[in-house]
Amino acid sequence: MSQYAPPAPLCHVNPLMGSDSHVNYSNGNTYPAITRPWGMTAWTILNAEDPWFFEYHSNRFRGIRATHQPSPWLRDYGHFLVTPLVGRWCDHPQHVVYPYDIDQQDIHPHVMGINLPSIKTTMELLPTERCSMMRLTLPTDEQSGVRLQTYPGQTTFQFDSAKNRLIGKTTANNGAVPKNFALYFVIESDCPIQNILSMDTTGQLTAITEPIEGEALTAVLRFTDHDQASIHLRFATSFISEEQALRNMDRELGDRDFDTLVKQSADAWNQLLSRIEIQSDDVTRTQTFYTCLYRCLLFPRKFYELDAQDQPQHYSPYDGEIHPGIMHTDNGFWDTYRTLYPLLTVLCPEILGQMLQGWLYAYKQGGWLPKWACPGHLYCMIGTHAASVLADAAVKGIGGFDQQLALEAMLKDATVIPGDSGEDGLGRRGLAEYLKLGYVASDKSSHSVARTLDFAYNDYCIAELASYLGQDDLAKQYHQQAKNYRHVYDTSVDFMRAKNSDGSWVEPFDEFAWSRDYIEGGPWQSSWMVPHDPQGLIELMGGHAKAAAKLEQMMTMEPVFHESDYKREIHEMTEMAMADFGQYAQSNQPVHHVLSFFTEAGQPQRTHHWVHKVLTEMYQPTADGFPGDEDNGEMSAWYVLNALGFFPLCPGKPEYHLVAPLFEKAVIHLENGNDWIIQRKQNMQSNTVTINDQAHDDWKIKHQTIVEGGTIQFQ
Ligand code: CA
Repeated sequence: MSQYAPPAPLCHVNPLMGSDSHVNYSNGNTYPAITRPWGMTAWTILNAEDPWFFEYHSNRFRGIRATHQPSPWLRDYGHFLVTPLVGRWCDHPQHVVYPYDIDQQDIHPHVMGINLPSIKTTMELLPTERCSMMRLTLPTDEQSGVRLQTYPGQTTFQFDSAKNRLIGKTTANNGAVPKNFALYFVIESDCPIQNILSMDTTGQLTAITEPIEGEALTAVLRFTDHDQASIHLRFATSFISEEQALRNMDRELGDRDFDTLVKQSADAWNQLLSRIEIQSDDVTRTQTFYTCLYRCLLFPRKFYELDAQDQPQHYSPYDGEIHPGIMHTDNGFWDTYRTLYPLLTVLCPEILGQMLQGWLYAYKQGGWLPKWACPGHLYCMIGTHAASVLADAAVKGIGGFDQQLALEAMLKDATVIPGDSGEDGLGRRGLAEYLKLGYVASDKSSHSVARTLDFAYNDYCIAELASYLGQDDLAKQYHQQAKNYRHVYDTSVDFMRAKNSDGSWVEPFDEFAWSRDYIEGGPWQSSWMVPHDPQGLIELMGGHAKAAAKLEQMMTMEPVFHESDYKREIHEMTEMAMADFGQYAQSNQPVHHVLSFFTEAGQPQRTHHWVHKVLTEMYQPTADGFPGDEDNGEMSAWYVLNALGFFPLCPGKPEYHLVAPLFEKAVIHLENGNDWIIQRKQNMQSNTVTINDQAHDDWKIKHQTIVEGGTIQFQ
């Protein structure tokens, strides 16, 4: 039973999908994010310990957390916890835990309702982009209040009794922020607050009469004795200032009531979700689809706020200054370039242009394009894949960002040795050898094979953008460099293999070893990383028949792995073994483009077969429904794209591979007003495709064809 069952398609979204996850096994590593599309602050349930603070099976409710956590592996920043207090808990709020049953709660992206029977209280919360409103329905015959708790970092609290407000700030973070970083917040109550008390570590309560400051503070707001059954709390957040937090509250909440805001919140989601219409009797697939689509609209989150003149401005997590313009953050490019951004090029090119300009502000403010932003530069994963995202959007004709500056930023990654400027971890590690030898040498750098392959693909992206901008000599140079993947393919073992700086292969070779020369995978998962030259790779592998046979073997062989340099079984290994799809580890990104290689090897039917199997067997709209880390929309975008019948084998090329779609009919309502209609005949053999009733003799399609609208039919 849902009090808030919203109109379709939002009603199909299950924010709990993927939340039944643990440090050693990921079914998504998600938490229910109650927020607006790309909302700056999300609100969720806390019932466990950081950073896996939401555990699906835990029945110990501890509060609502304001969060910015993109992944438990990166942890949170600017977070705080709010917990209702009733009766004796008002005087002893130190270890508050209420029993609750997650399956009995009302959890949607646009609102959640939590029933806490042990204190006869209902807690409802609706989000706006930067604020939220909470409605507490409390017993009237007992003392009541709320507890607000911050996390390690400097906190200040100030009580404005005239306005029933607690104003505060927290510097809680896990790195990747400038020294002056803080989240400013305001809580305002429509029920008079008797007093605000601060609690020390022993649980002792002291009234706050003057501003207080300290580490990880706890405040208790006690409502006056009242007969008000419903209390509304208004929350505001800002990364800029207290004044800006109040401005955000005024603009986003104003004097609107709870129910009006719930409807607005539902509309905001449906406006985007309904850009794709699905026709299907299969409820499970429809739920999976829209839940995945919801996950594609969370990251990179908005990190800007509107000033008094309604102009966007942002606190820079790179230089600590306030700058004009739109910025988004919380995104790892190693993951998201593959599927999430290509989906956005079709679904919402306008906001994509704004995101990309934001990444260029990051380059201006922080000296480099981000690799992982959370919220500032984080030195994590490999490759310089912002190049892929920027080139892909440019060659597809998407505007709104400075393409010349994008090329400059990409060239810095490709030419400046990062260690020299004291910023090892940004740019390309191993670049000196890569430029000299054509590959990253195993005796000089970690992840040498994976880095070589990523750099070669990134060079291709540079070449494509240079060519698009008419810089032909540069394009030629980088197209040449994009062939560097050949240096690490060893035809004697038929895999990508690590090489030393003297040109010798690293011994011994083990096709199952997830060694330090690859990343989160081994030779089987990593050897296909040539999205920009699939025919070149297939040729190295001995031609179409041999490549197709190798792919088939990969899908069906034993999921053997050797821990090798990891020295322990990492969760991606376990997930691959449990999935029973051979060496094809859908649990993680390295294989996410691999099924397109069947088509490249002349076997499109095998692409359709395996994609369909992955879509229907590895994704479910349930708490254990993702095959591995969801990773900021990437795992979900893989599903959405394949379900809709097109997949970007090589972002940076304005084209997609066609794949038999999941639904008999789907319509993409494009931003330009055109519709792209996807139809699949029942019992389809997918031997033929027509576009606008014309035979289409290719398993590829141009981005432009989709943008112009029309009907594609698989029969
Ligand atoms: Ca991953």
